[in-house]
Amino acid sequence: MKRLGLLGGTFDPPHIGHLLLAETARISLDLDQVLFLPVGDPPHKNDRGINAAAHRLAMTRLAIAGNPYFAVDTSDVDRPPPHFSYTLLPIIQAKYPQAALWFLLGSDSLADLPQWQRPERLLKQCRLAVLERPGVALEREQLQQLLPDLAAQVDWLDGPLVKVSATMVREFAAANRSLRYLIPETVQEYIIHHALYQL
Ligand code: ATP
Repeated sequence: MKRLGLLGGTFDPPHIGHLLLAETARISLDLDQVLFLPVGDPPHKNDRGINAAAHRLAMTRLAIAGNPYFAVDTSDVDRPPPHFSYTLLPIIQAKYPQAALWFLLGSDSLADLPQWQRPERLLKQCRLAVLERPGVALEREQLQQLLPDLAAQVDWLDGPLVKVSATMVREFAAANRSLRYLIPETVQEYIIHHALYQL
């Protein structure tokens, strides 16, 4: 049975935190592949104009290039809104009927899970692979109370932790601060070429 990791995100832009999460999950869970799934119209991020899916897709493709275990999947970008995870999982499962699925998350996203649409449905469709995100406190007991089925579905990942966020990268880019080592060089070149994140 194929073991598949799914990393959904805005990827505006993709950064070292995403890549380390994916690589840590791949190694820890012996995954055959990690699919990066850029979100088309993210329900949780309506407060900020995010870059067009075409830009985010292109940057995600550049970020994973050269890693044979990583691939970009456009299932979420290609479908009409709303872009809820619990309705995405059946689409992926239909594409890979034999696969066991892990949804990869940072602990900040896990903390938000009770606010997602139908989180209990998501927990029936896949396991969660969670990497701590430094600086984010996780109220485990409160989470457990809200989602009693959660603990049994989570695989905690042990790997290098970085405090990098896409927000930080955007702020650095706007301030013309160095992005070196925060994002792959190819993504940096793309940002410069398309003048993204300038104020
Ligand atoms: P933004 O700063 O715009 O909110 P982000 O850096 O959180 O973006 P997303 O694309 O929203 O990036 O994240 C996709 C997934 O990757 C989420 O589950 C998030 O928790 C996880 N993730 C992002 N950065 C890290 C990190 N540094 N460590 C662990 N997980 C991360």
